[in-house]
Amino acid sequence: VSSKGELIAVGSELLRGSHRDTNGDWLSEQLEALGFSLGVRSAVEDDPERIAALARRALDRAPFVLVVGGLGPTEDDRTREGLALALDLPLERDPEQLRRLESWFRRRARPFLPEQARQAERPRGAEWIDNPLGTAPGIALELGKSELFALPGVPAEMRAMFSSFVAPRIAARGNRSLARRILRVAGRTELSVDRQLSDLYGLPGVAVTVLSGHEGIEIHLLVEGFRAEDADDRVAEADRLISERLGRDLYGRGEETLAQVVGSLLSRGDRTLATAESCTAGLLAGAVTEVAGSSRWFRGGLVVYSDDLKRELAGVDARTLQRHGAVSEQVAGQLASGARERCGADLGIGITGVAGPGGGTSEKPVGLVHLALADRYEIRHGRMLFAGNREMIRRRTVAAALDLVRRHLLEFAEKGEEQ
Ligand code: ATP
Ligand code: MG
Repeated sequence: VSSKGELIAVGSELLRGSHRDTNGDWLSEQLEALGFSLGVRSAVEDDPERIAALARRALDRAPFVLVVGGLGPTEDDRTREGLALALDLPLERDPEQLRRLESWFRRRARPFLPEQARQAERPRGAEWIDNPLGTAPGIALELGKSELFALPGVPAEMRAMFSSFVAPRIAARGNRSLARRILRVAGRTELSVDRQLSDLYGLPGVAVTVLSGHEGIEIHLLVEGFRAEDADDRVAEADRLISERLGRDLYGRGEETLAQVVGSLLSRGDRTLATAESCTAGLLAGAVTEVAGSSRWFRGGLVVYSDDLKRELAGVDARTLQRHGAVSEQVAGQLASGARERCGADLGIGITGVAGPGGGTSEKPVGLVHLALADRYEIRHGRMLFAGNREMIRRRTVAAALDLVRRHLLEFAEKGEEQ
């Protein structure tokens, strides 16, 4: 038996893409706070056979199983039947629960339709979970090595019942804690990070997952099944080993963004930035200014999509444009120094590239991007060949430009310390 629970969301609407299983999202978070996680999460249509098949498999391997939805009084609410089928137990009508339902309706002066009595049925031996907000009671069952909880689908009812009844039961399974951390990496591919860290995947008790994120690669560390202090220590130790190995490629942790990191480096060094963007047309300036306080380090930017504006606004040389084309190292460099000089900043960034889908040639294919960073002394270049569609190419270009600034500032800070 795994230590992870399972969640089955019941409702045909959940399979149509129109309704998201937000109950499952909420429950995952709640479980995490209790130190538990899910091994499997599924959605199933309102069909007793399918519900039964999933529930049977889940109960075979998981210490606790949550079933959410399908406890209403209507014909298409099939969870009760599905569970009875899975457990091979008869559905029994509980007279006590029937009286409670009838009085619920009497108090509200609503007619009690015979179908409503379905909500007083439970598999033999089950316990009721009281619903303080509605008519659908939940069902709890102890089954040797696992526990089963069925809750209604209406989010407010489900939440109230989980918190008052299910959470304490699950918490009673052990004093556990779950610790996790995200490490963020720029300028690397998923596979190269994966290979560099592969021997650390065996760290005892730490699950390491590498995935591609918005701005680069994310490394997710997860420790579960330990007491709180131990879990935190293990995450911290894994962080130490991994960050030592990644060095400067690691740019942040948690929800930190490249623009935030660049902002704090600029701010710390008391330096300012300006941009001249062609293919990203302001996306970089937008990202930089998403960070609160950016007026301290961002001077402004030029959006120079056309060649004549590259000349007039950013001061790009007409002959350079003609000889090398707009997408070239030379033009990127002149955009960077133009931005720096014309906007009066310490650092200038120039971006020019082919975002596609049209406009690519064999020499300058879609995804080719030239970046440049100019400061008082020098111009640094970056030539990228990004994969993906137009949106991805533009997004990756912004990340690469921010990373270029970040690395430059880190080197600069280091040199400053040496002197
Ligand atoms: P109950 O068990 O309370 O009767 P149900 O699933 O039988 O719930 P429905 O009428 O199908 O009853 O759904 C009730 C409401 O709960 C609907 O608005 C539905 O969209 C919502 N709901 C059901 N399941 C989920 C879920 N997994 N995540 C978010 N909302 C859900
Ligand atoms: Mg439903």
